[in-house]
Amino acid sequence: MSISNQENYNEKSILHLQNIRKIYPNGKEALKGVSLDLTPGIYGLLGPNGAGKSTMIKIITGLLDATEGEVIYGYENIKQMDRRYRKILGYMPQQQKLYETFTGTRFLWYMATLKGMAKEEAKKQIPRLLEVVNLSEAAGRKIGHYSGGMKQRLLLAQALLDDPKILILDEPTAGLDPRERIRIRNFISEIARDKIVLLATHVVPDIECIAKEIILLNEGVIIDQGTPFNLIRKLEGKVWEKVVSSEELENMHKDHLISNMVSVSDGFLVKIIDDNNQEGWKAVHPTLEDVYLYNFERVNYKGKKLA
Ligand code: ADP
Ligand code: MG
Repeated sequence: MSISNQENYNEKSILHLQNIRKIYPNGKEALKGVSLDLTPGIYGLLGPNGAGKSTMIKIITGLLDATEGEVIYGYENIKQMDRRYRKILGYMPQQQKLYETFTGTRFLWYMATLKGMAKEEAKKQIPRLLEVVNLSEAAGRKIGHYSGGMKQRLLLAQALLDDPKILILDEPTAGLDPRERIRIRNFISEIARDKIVLLATHVVPDIECIAKEIILLNEGVIIDQGTPFNLIRKLEGKVWEKVVSSEELENMHKDHLISNMVSVSDGFLVKIIDDNNQEGWKAVHPTLEDVYLYNFERVNYKGKKLA
C-alpha cells in the first residue's frame, strides 16, 4: 500500500465498539454492552466515578480484553492489527505512573522507543512536543521534582508522540489547578483537528466547549449521547429558579434536585431540576452541568426520596 493510500484509508476510518461487555474476575460487570462509533473530532466520555470510563478506555487501547464484543478500526479488529494499531494510538492513562528518576526528555525517549519510533523522527518530535506542553525548561529535570500539572503535561506529550490518529485521554486534568485545566483543555482542542479524540472525565467544564459529542456513561451503560447543544435542549422546561429563605432551603434538600444556589440579599437564589411544572418557579435555560446532574444524580435523589 502506498503512503497516500494509507492516509486515505485512515481518514475514512471509524473506530467502532461492538457490544462491549466487561466482567472482571470478581464478578463485577463494569460494561454492560456498549456500542459506539467514533469519527475524527473530540468526544467527551462523561460519567461519575465507577461508571466504567477507564474500563472502556483500556479496552479501546487494547490493554484489557473485553469479555464480549469487539473493537474495530476501519474493517479490522484491533487485536489483529496489534502493532499497526499501537502505531496510530496515543494513550494518556489516568494514573500517573512515571519514572521519577528519569528526566522529562529521557522519559519521552523511552516512550518513543517503546512505540517503535525511528530515532530521527523522535529527535525531531521530542523537543517540539516539550515546547508545545511548555516543559522545555524543565525537560532536563527529574520527574520526581515535577508538580502534578507538569506530570500531566508530560503524560500528554508522550501520548502525542508519532502524531497518533487516535488519542485516548483518561481524566487528563485530574489534580490540576483551574489555570492548568484551561491550558490543557485549550491545548487538546488545538491538536485534535484530524484525530479521533476520546476524553474521559467526571468534570463537565473539561469537555463543555471542546467536545463535538458527549457520551453519558452510567453503571456500564451509555444512557445518552449527542452534541452538547442537543443534550442541553432536552432539559429545556425542566430547570427552575426561585428565591427562598434559608428555612425553605433546608427542606428543599429532601425532595428536590438542587442544581445551584447563590446567596442573595433576601435569601438564596435556588435552581432545581424537575420534570414537572413547578408552581411559583421561573423556568430557566439549562446548562451542561444540569445535564450531568439530571442524568447522574437524579437516581440518588429518587432513592433518597423513597427512603
Ligand atoms: P471510572 O473510570 O468511570 O471511574 P472504572 O472503569 O474504573 O470506572 O470502574 C468501573 C467499575 O468496575 C467500578 O465499580 C470499579 O470498582 C470496577 N473495577 C475496575 N477495575 C476493576 C478490577 N480490576 N477488578 C474488579 N473491579 C474493577
Ligand atoms: Mg477512571
